Amino acid sequence: MHSYILELKCSRCGRKYDANVVQSVCTSCGGTLFSMYDIEKAKNKFAKQDLQKRTPSLWRYREMLPVKIEKNIVTLGEGYTPITRIERIGEKLGLKQLYVKDDGIIPTGTFKTRGMTTAISKVKELGISKVALASAGNAGGAAATYSARAGIECFVFMPKDAPESTKKECYEMGAHVYLVDGLINDAGKFVVNGKQKYGWFELSTLKEPYRVEGKKTMGYEIAEQFDWILPDVIVYPTGGGTGLVGMWKAFNELQELGWLDRENKKPRMVSVQSKGCAPVVKAFKEGKESVEEPFKDAQTIAGGIRVPSPYASEQILKVIRASQGTAVEVDDSEIIQSMQTLGKQEGLNVCPEGAATLAGLGKLIDNGWLEKNERVLLYNTGSGLKYPEVVNLPKLKVFSKEVAYSFEL
Ligand SMILES: *Cc1c(COP(=O)(O)O)cnc(C)c1O
Ligand SMILES: [Zn+2]
Repeated sequence: MHSYILELKCSRCGRKYDANVVQSVCTSCGGTLFSMYDIEKAKNKFAKQDLQKRTPSLWRYREMLPVKIEKNIVTLGEGYTPITRIERIGEKLGLKQLYVKDDGIIPTGTFKTRGMTTAISKVKELGISKVALASAGNAGGAAATYSARAGIECFVFMPKDAPESTKKECYEMGAHVYLVDGLINDAGKFVVNGKQKYGWFELSTLKEPYRVEGKKTMGYEIAEQFDWILPDVIVYPTGGGTGLVGMWKAFNELQELGWLDRENKKPRMVSVQSKGCAPVVKAFKEGKESVEEPFKDAQTIAGGIRVPSPYASEQILKVIRASQGTAVEVDDSEIIQSMQTLGKQEGLNVCPEGAATLAGLGKLIDNGWLEKNERVLLYNTGSGLKYPEVVNLPKLKVFSKEVAYSFEL
């Protein structure tokens, strides 16, 4: 097994870069660099049947991932997460084929792991020893985890109100954690300022080429798990956009590899955001090609999608439009309600971002955007267990142990 990576290419202006040396973004236009593969060669030597014998991890697609030498792979057995049919909720909504892909079941508890296993592996391969990033929380946790495993020093800058679980995760995994009185874009300024001075490699969303490669495995897994017939619609909680952009890259590569069935039909991609921070929805509705200014007073309980000014908004909007998808916003109370619905009705303990997809689905049905017989996949990006502060417990009564034998309901 080896990687078919050829070179890096700017997603905006098309300029090409050597994939064997350290690169961040395009030096002429600032666009995100994408890994390009020798698909013609891969086509002859790599067949989808080869996958059947492999371990259930995202590294099963390693020919289409950027790491060249096997010993550089930094892994905790991540990926190949389950796709669960949710019939009870589907029936209520009148949908016959409704599914959840559940990245709550992955090391670090969120899908940020996918991007960090590939990025940190490549960082190791390129001989980099220090990384830094701005994070709303989960990316920091995953970067800290994989850095620890790789023996790389990690610096995380996050908003001071990031979830406690992610602050503790970074600390436990030995990262240097800095809290910023502001949002993720404010945290980003510390990284940009410090990277020259301290020799950090910047791992912030879509500012290096390799996190998106890990995220694209969501698309490979969806294709393989649905037996190479992609769903009609994928609903995805969008923050920085790596997931959406990564999946679309995967679908294009799979199409070129000739692995997709049913005339290569690709899903319509739906971006869900919270009303309190919906820059992509706003730009989409206004027909804009990018997010022109940061969303004001961004606030939502779904911290992973609290990204007021996504660096790759141009790419995100392109994918939504190219796929004939759409963008919808939901409010935080609908998110909390959907968390409970997925829990009580299906036994899925999802994060607020993941729950937002169910809330968004409701809107798509209400406004007739969906046909009832379409196959719809909601993407749950993380575990509800990482967000204990979002759940409000009612006051629970404490019993004396003496009453155990006289206790009645
Ligand atoms: C980061 C994050 C998102 C948004 O991911 P992008 O792919 O960057 O848009 C969604 N959910 C969770 C739990 C996250 O941590
Ligand atoms: Zn460029």
